Amino acid sequence: MATPEQRVALVTGAARGIGAAVARRLASDGAALGVLDLEESTCASTVDAITSAGGKAIALGADVSNGEQITAAVDRLAKEFGSVDILVNNAGVTRDNLLFKMTEQDWDTVVAVHLKGAFLASKAVQKYMVERKYGKIVSMSSVSALGNRGQANYSAVKAGLQGFTRTLAIELGPFGINVNAVAPGFIATDMTDDTARRVGVTPEELQKQAASITPVRRVGQPEDIANTIAFLTSDESSFITGQIIYVDGGRKLT
Ligand code: NAP
Repeated sequence: MATPEQRVALVTGAARGIGAAVARRLASDGAALGVLDLEESTCASTVDAITSAGGKAIALGADVSNGEQITAAVDRLAKEFGSVDILVNNAGVTRDNLLFKMTEQDWDTVVAVHLKGAFLASKAVQKYMVERKYGKIVSMSSVSALGNRGQANYSAVKAGLQGFTRTLAIELGPFGINVNAVAPGFIATDMTDDTARRVGVTPEELQKQAASITPVRRVGQPEDIANTIAFLTSDESSFITGQIIYVDGGRKLT
């Protein structure tokens, strides 16, 4: 069980990348963590990092686009630690291609993981949050929401998550639940490394190129996003809801 004052957080897609950094940060700020990813076994390194630093965490295997699996994972977390107070909708995939080459499967996969996944996870946690009149939901949007060549599917879901966020903020605000989104720019993870390989450059070359068109002249790190989510899920941001916070080194402005 979590201690009486301890918050319980669920981070999806937390085996690696941004999700792993967010899970570690929320744990170091005192939360008990549900570390969720497609395969329970892949969550081990994030769980170990948290528990070896003295925190509490359990691994949860679920596909966020599967209603039964995500509901079972949320219920298991609530049973283990007593509640679910924080949800970070982070799980994500890319299936980039120009429109004429993008398959129906590319479209459906991206819509299912990002949009349906955020819907199902938010629906599963809200019952615990409404009951306790407390909750924080943060979803991962992207600068790609503003349009990005080769990402018709991804930019559509990242823009969709912004509308989803504003609507949940209206519906859940009266129950003490804050709902916000973070829209990262280029963050160095396996996802951006895969993009580099797909376009035929090294990850370092792609990062250098991204940094050169970013006003602060660097790419982001997973911790840049974790810092922002730590604030948005803390009680210091309780008057902030329905917002999309761009964490992109100024990239949106260029
Ligand atoms: P990442 O390194 O590829 O990690 C994504 C994680 O999500 C992986 O562990 C993956 O598991 C998991 N996942 C995928 N499908 C899932 C599903 N159906 N159910 C549960 N987990 C699933 O990506 P990242 O760069 O950290 O990105 C995290 C989030 O930030 C994503 O929503 C992404 O769109 C967003 N974002 C990233 C950037 C960036 O520059 N990196 C920029 C803007 C927004 P597997 O390993 O098993 O596939």
